[in-house]
Amino acid sequence: MSMKLAARVAQVTPSMTLAIDTKAKAMKREGIDVISFSVGEPDFDTPAHIRTAAEIALEQGKTRYGAAAGEPKLREAIAQKLQRDNGLCYGADNVLVTNGGKHSLFNLMLALIEPGDEVIIPAPFWVSYPEMVKLAGGTPVIVPTTLESGYKITPEQLRQAVTPKTKLFVFNSPSNPTGMVYTPDEVRALAQVVVEQNLLVVSDEIYEKLLYDQAEHLSIGAVNPDIFERTIVSSGFAKTYAMTGWRVGFLAGPLPLIQAATKIQGHSTSNVCTFAQYGAVAAYEAPQDCVQQMLQAFSERRQIILEFINAIPGFNCPKPDGAFYVFPNIAQLGISSIDFCNGLLETQQVAAIPGIAFGADDCVRFSYATDVESIRRGMERLTTYVKSLA
Ligand code: GLU
Repeated sequence: MSMKLAARVAQVTPSMTLAIDTKAKAMKREGIDVISFSVGEPDFDTPAHIRTAAEIALEQGKTRYGAAAGEPKLREAIAQKLQRDNGLCYGADNVLVTNGGKHSLFNLMLALIEPGDEVIIPAPFWVSYPEMVKLAGGTPVIVPTTLESGYKITPEQLRQAVTPKTKLFVFNSPSNPTGMVYTPDEVRALAQVVVEQNLLVVSDEIYEKLLYDQAEHLSIGAVNPDIFERTIVSSGFAKTYAMTGWRVGFLAGPLPLIQAATKIQGHSTSNVCTFAQYGAVAAYEAPQDCVQQMLQAFSERRQIILEFINAIPGFNCPKPDGAFYVFPNIAQLGISSIDFCNGLLETQQVAAIPGIAFGADDCVRFSYATDVESIRRGMERLTTYVKSLA
């Protein structure tokens, strides 16, 4: 029997971050000494107090269906965090708890985008943004940025990309894959264009706590009341609290939008795993020492990986201020990012993500959310590999 699949399946490309991570993990299981810089996943265990809070919730019978929008306690904790850390005046009703940051963006696209709508996405972009827009029936409008501008979209570029069909601007700072952080002044300038052009903006702030040197994070919605009304925030617990497998994230924004996204979630996944949500409550309510400790480790790893990357002839890598990625430009090597990464994995057993997954075929992404020993060994192999290409 031949089964005719829905046309939307053919429109999307599989997630390369997940595909390469799966391949690298399978090679490891076969006993191959793979060093993976592929998926953006902290190598730390979830901090003990967060695990304990979930265990207690489990013991206390928090094992049943909950409200689709999330446990009231977690919605409240998220609203308070957004007020305290980000200067965003949301109440618990403005928050939808989702199955990770990815799911919050997906719910948003389904709730907001329809055929004919254009969504502006600066490239390099996180792999799933354009695919989500397409799945919702919309049209991604990709705006390429340059190495010279630090891979940041300028206000002028944003203005020029707007058409009467533009509905949403996808803004991600700190950025995956580049690690770039927009300065507060740059955020303010982009906010002005969003308001002036009557757009909405989704601000993906999942890496907001992973900042180095003097980098500062300003939530675009906090710039002024006009932009606040036009902002939707997407975030989650995975990267800051080493909770990737828990699948807890959130969407926050204007009430009608959150209600719409909740309606969609009510017919797709219902609530997020109930006891996992209590772990997330503890993540926000307890002291943040664990975040500082992990940040310190990421900061040391960043120095080490950058020393290696900067010493590789043919690599050109702006210094990232945030997240846990380095994104060197390999244009001088004259090889596509897929060929580069395939060769690296086959000959040196080192996994990295081809920039083409992020709309930048002349770059490669390395995640340094892995231990120092692996970083050193992997970078030595990478250096050997690049020399072999010369
Ligand atoms: N956001 C992470 C990354 O870019 C996780 C993988 C994914 O969900 O695509 O590696």
